[in-house]
Amino acid sequence: MIPVSEPVMGEKELEYITECIRTNWVSSAGKFVDRFAEEFAGFCEAKYAVPVVNGTAALHLALMILGIGRGDEVIVPTLTFITTANVVTYTGATPIFVDSEPYTWNIEPAKIEEKITDRTKAIIPVHLYGHPADMNAINTIAEYHNLFVIEDATEGLGSLYKGKRVGTLSDIGCFSFNGNKLITTGSGGMIVTNNESWAEEAKFLSTQARVPGGEYFHPKIGYNYRLTNIQAALGVAQLEKIDEYIKIKRRNAALYHKLLNSVKGITLTPEADWAENVFWIYSILVEDEYDMSKDELMAKLTENDIGNRPLFYPLHLQPPYIKNKPEKLEVAESLYRKGINLPSSVSLKESDIEKITQVIRCSVS
Ligand SMILES: *Cc1c(COP(=O)(O)O)cnc(C)c1O
Repeated sequence: MIPVSEPVMGEKELEYITECIRTNWVSSAGKFVDRFAEEFAGFCEAKYAVPVVNGTAALHLALMILGIGRGDEVIVPTLTFITTANVVTYTGATPIFVDSEPYTWNIEPAKIEEKITDRTKAIIPVHLYGHPADMNAINTIAEYHNLFVIEDATEGLGSLYKGKRVGTLSDIGCFSFNGNKLITTGSGGMIVTNNESWAEEAKFLSTQARVPGGEYFHPKIGYNYRLTNIQAALGVAQLEKIDEYIKIKRRNAALYHKLLNSVKGITLTPEADWAENVFWIYSILVEDEYDMSKDELMAKLTENDIGNRPLFYPLHLQPPYIKNKPEKLEVAESLYRKGINLPSSVSLKESDIEKITQVIRCSVS
């Protein structure tokens, strides 16, 4: 089976992890933790980076640092992984869902303002499947209404928005290094920001709010959200290859584009002219003009040992968030109905893409 997204491990990963084990630095302190933070900040061109245990923890901390809690509202796209909304719920605040923009599939800036109330405190844009959200438009709205902006930036790691790295285009950027992301630490996450006191607060809250020093003194409720040295060792090794990974992802996407461009009824993963998309997960939309339904095409891909997934199920329709009279967020619902994730790993071979696109093209009679 060609997987949708698998990690790629090498000799460096083995070498650095072995070093952790040989030196006994296996837990939450150690030189790889600091090195990973420093080098990741360097890659993102952010002043500060704080490693954490996963992407969910990164977002949860970001909301807490900005003082978001009970009674507050936070605007999120409905078409995203459920973490984006769940972290809002963890704080006691309420996620408010906004429809997608039809071309980039990201949160539609023009539909944000109608959802803003006097309780709104923040917006969390997501760079869905790699494509940057329209950050200038989002930041303009946020400034006007005095809201924070937190980027759920994982999927856009390596993408550029008007020439700038995503994750540093807002107050706080959050990343995940789960096994299916561009780079992985097995499980892991990172907060990036240019605000020193927020970075310090993130570190503080992630270590049970313990005041540094010998005493066990905790002025606040904290969390154990630290990344271990072993995980960070993986991260350092992976980060050494990130530029190469980005090139491979973009080259694979270009080949998908070339081989699927002329297929009637297939809409390709977008790339706006102001964006450089890392194409984290290359996806297609199956339109009515295509010869099969989306489900039929997915079944055919599976039959041919080709991994595939539907797009994220819109969050405003998920049991924890659906209202008695469900909202209609039509663009996201339609993208969900039509969309398929295709294999996108860095390990994907040219012959794999030829096989995958062959199946999609030959479905057309
Ligand atoms: C993967 C992902 C997360 C969650 O990260 P974990 O490390 O699994 O907690 C959050 N948001 C988005 C958009 C993601 O793709």
